[in-house]
Amino acid sequence: MSQIIIKKPYIEKKDNTSYLHSKFLINHEEKDIFFSVDSRYEKYLVDDRADSFIVSILTYAMKNNLDIVSEAPISKELLYSIVNYFIPMTSSNMEKFNKIKIIANPTNKKIISEGAVCTGFTGGVDSMYTLMTHLNRHEKNFNLTHLLVFNNGALEKNGNEKTLKELVERLKSGIAKECNLEVLGINTNIQEIVDEHFLSVVTIRHIACVLSMQKLFGIFLNSATYPFRNFSFDQDNMGYYELMVVNLLRTECTITYSTGGEKARIEKIKSFENFPLAHKYLRPCIHNSNNCNICGKCVRTMVAIYALGELDKYSKVFDVDYFYKNIDWYIGYTIAHSKNEHYRESLIMMLKKGIPISDKAKKIGKTLIAAQKIADKNKKILKNKILH
Ligand SMILES: [Zn+2]
Repeated sequence: MSQIIIKKPYIEKKDNTSYLHSKFLINHEEKDIFFSVDSRYEKYLVDDRADSFIVSILTYAMKNNLDIVSEAPISKELLYSIVNYFIPMTSSNMEKFNKIKIIANPTNKKIISEGAVCTGFTGGVDSMYTLMTHLNRHEKNFNLTHLLVFNNGALEKNGNEKTLKELVERLKSGIAKECNLEVLGINTNIQEIVDEHFLSVVTIRHIACVLSMQKLFGIFLNSATYPFRNFSFDQDNMGYYELMVVNLLRTECTITYSTGGEKARIEKIKSFENFPLAHKYLRPCIHNSNNCNICGKCVRTMVAIYALGELDKYSKVFDVDYFYKNIDWYIGYTIAHSKNEHYRESLIMMLKKGIPISDKAKKIGKTLIAAQKIADKNKKILKNKILH
């Protein structure tokens, strides 16, 4: 079988950034994969084992039927879990995943870690919920210490180091300052090397970044996108089976938890009732600036907050007047997207609370659905014309 060979990792400093590099041979072609952080954090990069690199390439290797050979060792627990559980479970439940071999020496050598607690923070509902539930806990070693911003395919444009820096600075001067948390940006070029659809690898990408910094992090709280009850092996969306992924891709040093899966998204929003920081900093928008009020994520969040009767509290982050002026469009848009549970739950809440839906909103919903059908049909026609 063809192989991916992972060479021994090494650290390199350039300006104020430190890179954890490894050369990969993928079908005899050399690639350079890196994770990078601000040089103040260089001492935490793990270069004596290949954990982060093996995790980052794992799904690509399985999908392309490539064995992984690593020159550097891999943490013993991680290797055991991947070989005995991750590979058998994914390959037997999803057709894109093939059984592959991992050829690497396991290591027991202990990593001296500060045991810090981190989460990836976007400002959206899921990460805000993780933050709210991990401040001032009585189990002190589960209190959040760091907010992470990843450039691993998660940002709008991959390789966008400028955006990463801006997001880090915004958190530093905002919510992180108020909560006394450190902020760290982790950059990687993995998306440029293996172009996998981000939703299909989202959890594994985040874990790979955290594993590159095991000397700092003992716990990674990965904010669940979907409730645990929706667990399924969906090869196009790792969020649905992330509970399994986080349980398996752990080392003796660094453990990941899927946080918040016990609640539906609208229940998380409800729990912000008495959490003023959410009213000041909630930012679900797909754009990397302030909430735009009109993208899908803004719309579904505003409608959910409206359905809960809380929208007026959020005037610092959303244009509440604009919402009320255009309420029929917001509700109509929600109706049109109600196949998606994150929209549907707002309509169910409105129904439960007896909040009326106007005829105009229903009509807008129907029109948007019809327009979408025409657009889909045209897309299909165009595709058939171009592809042979
Ligand atoms: Zn938006």
